[in-house]
Amino acid sequence: MNVETFMSKRGEAPSRFIEKVKGAVGEENISQSECDLISYSLDYWLYGVFLSQYGKLPSLPSVVISPKNSQEIQSILKYANEYKVHITPFGAGSGVLGGAIPIEGDAVLNLQRMNKFISLDETSLVAEFEGGIIGANLERELNHRGYSMGSIPQSLHCSTLGGWISTRAVGQFSTKYGKIEDMVLGMEVVLPDGNLLNIKPVPRRSTGPSLKELFLGGEGTLGIVTKAVVSVHPLPERTIKQSFAFPSVEVALDVVRKILRGDAKPAVVRIFDEPETARYFGQIKNKVTIIFISEGETDFVELEGRLIKRIAEENGGETTGEKLVDIWLEKRFDIGLGPIIMQQGGIVDTIEVVSLFKDAANLYNDMVSAMRAMEGAISVSGHYSHFYREGACLYITFAGFPKDPSRYYKDTWTAAMEATLKNNGSISHHHGIGFWRKDFMQEELGPHGVELLQKIKLALDPNGILNKGKLIDGK
Ligand SMILES: Cc1cc2nc3c(=O)[nH]c(=O)nc-3n(C[C@H](O)[C@H](O)[C@H](O)COP(=O)(O)OP(=O)(O)OC[C@H]3O[C@@H](n4cnc5c(N)ncnc54)[C@H](O)[C@@H]3O)c2cc1C
Repeated sequence: MNVETFMSKRGEAPSRFIEKVKGAVGEENISQSECDLISYSLDYWLYGVFLSQYGKLPSLPSVVISPKNSQEIQSILKYANEYKVHITPFGAGSGVLGGAIPIEGDAVLNLQRMNKFISLDETSLVAEFEGGIIGANLERELNHRGYSMGSIPQSLHCSTLGGWISTRAVGQFSTKYGKIEDMVLGMEVVLPDGNLLNIKPVPRRSTGPSLKELFLGGEGTLGIVTKAVVSVHPLPERTIKQSFAFPSVEVALDVVRKILRGDAKPAVVRIFDEPETARYFGQIKNKVTIIFISEGETDFVELEGRLIKRIAEENGGETTGEKLVDIWLEKRFDIGLGPIIMQQGGIVDTIEVVSLFKDAANLYNDMVSAMRAMEGAISVSGHYSHFYREGACLYITFAGFPKDPSRYYKDTWTAAMEATLKNNGSISHHHGIGFWRKDFMQEELGPHGVELLQKIKLALDPNGILNKGKLIDGK
């Protein structure tokens, strides 16, 4: 294993910077203990986790700073510009592309103290939170008041609202409630120069290009999301769970396409390929399954349930009942065998991409066959989830015990990205770019697209202090 390809550096925040920041946030909210530096040097980029098992740690920051409000962050960023200190924002570190690893960061900005519920407006159906609140706590605040945001990622318990916004995350109930970019109405952002930007919450506006879009997917490179106003929904009155088996991914995709064409909006739609069907629902062999959850007002839900059943059965679907949905609901936060495989020296990771319906089946076939052809591959499986009327997200999980892990990992990713681009897909649906996927941005956006992002970065952050080495670098 060539661990030397992994970065290895220790951040250098000058002592004068640290003294000034201590004055702003209090000595107790600054840590230079080896334990904290190590804890904040890793996110959930699985190859980084794999290497850390062999004692190969990512680069360490020289300090972890934990502010409690926007004003403190404004001071920190002003000092960072003065002393040219590179700052890596850190939500909960559940990102899977290395976005929160301080690869070129001198200081980590830990946002977890900014974790408050601020308000709920039951008339307008919006709620405001601080950016560092953990998803499960956000949902708890809403649920006991009778509401939900409807954003339930698998990482609900270990990711933050600010992290969701910064990576353009998606929850498992997205086909009804949308992706995070559909849910955020307004935001407060500390800009790289320390100034405060307030984007007021309104449903839609016509005031030039949307400033929100700079920070949705900004991955901590263009500002720190300190507060957000999001849409909420009353807790559902009625839920219907259904599942069906089909002979192929292609047929299953066509069934979902037909259901969504009629403007149905089931909260959960997931197509599991044969290997994932066998893994989740052992009793169903050689089939592809789809699970559906419809939820909301009783009349709508019952109508939608009937529409789904009719279209599924008309297209050869074999009813497999509510039980499969319950099995999925029970397992949906499990992370499976990944950690065990890695402890045994194997490599595991996931890749999510997105395409139009017309390309979806070819994308699945090309991606899976290219990834299975890699030396050492033991498993490649997938599901389609997060559906739109126009297309869907394909989510592939792969595992291998290769002779050369570093080469296997890179080659597998490259094969997956090439298959996606060949099928007119986009290289990420919701995990973002971080530093690992950066190399594919030229092909994704084209040279002018990358150049435009670089110019925006340079204009907002001329000293390049925020999250250096991620997503896009200014020039
Ligand atoms: C088990 C598991 C399941 C997952 N399931 C899903 C899923 O269902 N859907 C999904 O979309 N993703 C999923 N992910 C990926 C991950 O949870 C998301 O990317 C999430 O949005 C990251 O949030 P975080 O708070 O942990 O951010 P971090 O990992 O801490 O940071 C992610 C990026 O955002 C930046 N950042 C964080 N907070 C802020 C802020 N307030 N302001 C500016 N920049 C900030 C960081 O610098 C970094 O670039 C999963 C990850 C794991 C480990």
